[in-house]
Amino acid sequence: ADTQTGQLRQIYALSADLFHHILINTAIGEPALNYLHQRGLSDETIETFYLGFAPTQQVLLPFLKDRNFSRELLVRSGLFSEGNDGSLYQRFKERVLFPIRDPQKRVIAFSGRLLTKNDQLPKYLNSPETVLFNKRKVLFNFDLAKGEIRQQGFAILFEGFMDVISAYQAGVHQGVASMGTSLTNEQIYLLERTTERLCLCYDGDSPGQKATARALQLLQPLTKLELGVIPIPGQRDPDEYINQESPAAFVKLVENGQQNQMSFWFSFLATERNLTNENDQLAYISDVLEKIAGVASPVARDLYLGQLAKRFSLDKKSLAGQLHSLLQQQA
Ligand code: ATP
Ligand code: MN
Ligand code: MN
Ligand code: MN
Repeated sequence: ADTQTGQLRQIYALSADLFHHILINTAIGEPALNYLHQRGLSDETIETFYLGFAPTQQVLLPFLKDRNFSRELLVRSGLFSEGNDGSLYQRFKERVLFPIRDPQKRVIAFSGRLLTKNDQLPKYLNSPETVLFNKRKVLFNFDLAKGEIRQQGFAILFEGFMDVISAYQAGVHQGVASMGTSLTNEQIYLLERTTERLCLCYDGDSPGQKATARALQLLQPLTKLELGVIPIPGQRDPDEYINQESPAAFVKLVENGQQNQMSFWFSFLATERNLTNENDQLAYISDVLEKIAGVASPVARDLYLGQLAKRFSLDKKSLAGQLHSLLQQQA
C-alpha cells in the first residue's frame, strides 16, 4: 500500500510538471497563459503556484503510460474517468490548473478553472478524494502561508484560489482558502495550531457577505480564534479589488480595514433591513442585541450597547433591560 501511495504522489508530481510545461512552453498553452497574464498574474507568480493548463487533447494518458503506471493506479489517481468502453479519459479539459499542495509542498490534487465560460460545466472542478487528498483537511496555500501567518499574527481566509494568489502577488502572503466549502474542524485545528486570529476576506457581493455571516456563526462556538473581517468595498472580490484599485490599496485594506465581529454585524444586519421603516428598526435592534448577548466580555457588551443606543437615540437603560432578559434566556 505504501508503494501505491508513493506512486500516486509520483503521478501527481509528474502531472503537475506536464500541465505546467504545457502552459509555459507550448502553443496549446498560449491562450491559457494569455488569460492568466490578462488577469494580472506575473510569470513569477505563475511559477510560485506552479499553475498549469490541461488542454482538450488527451495528453496525460500517453505521458503516464510511457512511465509504466498500472491502469488501476491511473484510475485511483482520479485524474481520469472511465468511459463505457473501458477507456480512460482525462478529467481536466480546457482548464487552468491550480495545484493543491500538502503542508510538505507536495501536489496532492488539482482544482481546474474553465478557460472559457460554459454554462453546461462547473466553473471550478476539483480532483476527487484519494488517499492523498482529503478536502476536509486541506487549506489551499497553507504551506506557503504558514510562516507569514506566524509572523503577522493572523491568517486570512479567502473564498477563491485566485484571491489567495492575487493577494500573494500583492505582498499579502498569509492567505488561505478552503476547497469551496465552509471550514471544517480539521482546518480550524490547523489554523489554531498556527495563530490566534483569523480574518475573513470574502467577496464583497451579497453572496460573499452572507457567506461571511454564516462562517462567523459557524466558527464562533467552535473556536478560540479571535475572528475579524476584512470587507472589500464595492461588490468586488479581493482579486478584482487588487486589479481595479492597486496592490498597495489592498495591503492598506489588510492593515487598516480589519473589522471586529461586532462592527461586521452592525453593518451586515443593517443591509438585511430597511432602516427607514420603524418595524425594521425594531427588528434590527433586536438582531443586534442578540449578537451583543453572545459577547463574553461584560465591558465589550456595554460598549456595543452604548453604540446601539447612540445610533437610534435610545435610552441605554431600556436596551440594557432587553439585553438582560436575553442573557437570562441563554443561562
Ligand atoms: P474567478 O475569479 O476565477 O472567476 P472566483 O474565485 O471569484 O473565480 P467564485 O464564483 O467567487 O469564483 O467562487 C469562489 C470559490 O468557490 C472558487 O474559487 C472555487 O473554489 C469555488 N467554486 C466556485 N464555483 C464552483 C463550482 N462550480 N464547483 C466547485 N467549486 C466552485
Ligand atoms: Mn463569489
Ligand atoms: Mn474572482
Ligand atoms: Mn469570487
